[in-house]
Amino acid sequence: EVRLSDRVNAIKPSPTLAVTNKAAELKAAGRDIIGLGAGEPDFDTPQHIKDAAIAAINNGFTKYTAVDGTPGLKKAIIAKFKRDNNLDYAPNQILVSSGGKQSFFNLALAFLNAGDEVIIPAPFWVSYPDMTIIAEGVPVIVKCGEEQRFKITAAQLEAAITPKTRLLVLNSPSNPTGMVYTKQELTELAEVLRRHPHVYVASDDMYEPIIWTTEPFHNILNVAPDLYDRTFVLNGVSKAYAMTGWRIGYAAGPAKIINAMKNVQSQSTSNPASISQAAAEAALNGPQDVLKPMIEAFKRRHDLVVAGLNEIHGITCLPADGAFYAYASVRPLIRALGLKSCTEFSEWLLEKTGVAVVPGDAFGLGGYMRISYATADATLVEALRRIKEAADSIG
Ligand code: PLP
Repeated sequence: EVRLSDRVNAIKPSPTLAVTNKAAELKAAGRDIIGLGAGEPDFDTPQHIKDAAIAAINNGFTKYTAVDGTPGLKKAIIAKFKRDNNLDYAPNQILVSSGGKQSFFNLALAFLNAGDEVIIPAPFWVSYPDMTIIAEGVPVIVKCGEEQRFKITAAQLEAAITPKTRLLVLNSPSNPTGMVYTKQELTELAEVLRRHPHVYVASDDMYEPIIWTTEPFHNILNVAPDLYDRTFVLNGVSKAYAMTGWRIGYAAGPAKIINAMKNVQSQSTSNPASISQAAAEAALNGPQDVLKPMIEAFKRRHDLVVAGLNEIHGITCLPADGAFYAYASVRPLIRALGLKSCTEFSEWLLEKTGVAVVPGDAFGLGGYMRISYATADATLVEALRRIKEAADSIG
């Protein structure tokens, strides 16, 4: 009987968080659960970053800051963009937010009008469509299958653009597939965008350093600097520095829109936590070699998981380029079990083996499961053993 807003009725809670919660519930009830659902590094935040936060507390850096971020952190972000991405930004082109999630939320609210279309290649990070809907935009989902390594092609982009298109979302390395767009692919997408000057781009670079491609990381601006005035670069410290709980993300882009996003934030959460900002500043300015062992571990686990999955009858998984996710096809198993979807499959898997994965349905491309391998190697080995045993039992 309680009436909710049409806005909230149109969205669903984050499915990845739902899996994590379900696994935690079963665990609390005494079941032996292996949670491969959570999208966060298992590593501890590096010590010098924690020390900076502790110093901030002890120095009384515990008050409101500027809504868009402290001058020190913004300077560190600008230096990071120059150092790692060869991109130039002025302070009024940067907005620091409470996580990358809020960066995109601010963008949707500040940039979209009712009916504006947002092109979202699937499989996608779960929040893009729902945040678009909250902002009364229209998600235009473009299915990108495994034969194209889950990436949108220039031809698909061209076909999806209409006069109402406002934004294209690119996420590389990708959650949930770990795929990275090559320079060539980005160049081809940029050629399409040049023909449609009304379309902006959101480049979500959240997993930037976690790659093992032969090409170094680049986003669309690196191959098409002429798109600078209509590109937003979204990034953050959550995944790169094992800082998911600190809640710091940042956006860079055209000053006028960044300012509008800042206004949205000023009427919702104001500044991100002062202490977390001090920590993020230390992360960006500090030694970058702290990332190396984490990236090496992710690569090692990637190899372990992809090889292990491909040994299981009924499961296939493409090797990925980065992040810490494996997106594996489970279609033959769904069929063999007489199930209707990969959501039902993941429920079956959890019940049968205690292994929690996120079904591909959540990411807009069914028939798959996403395994987050940001967990100990031994845990992954045990999870693979259980999945294999369960798959073999189907016969
Ligand atoms: N973008 C992508 C592609 C993600 O996977 C995530 C987190 O899962 C985010 C953005 C948001 O990160 P956070 O809000 O934790 O900084």
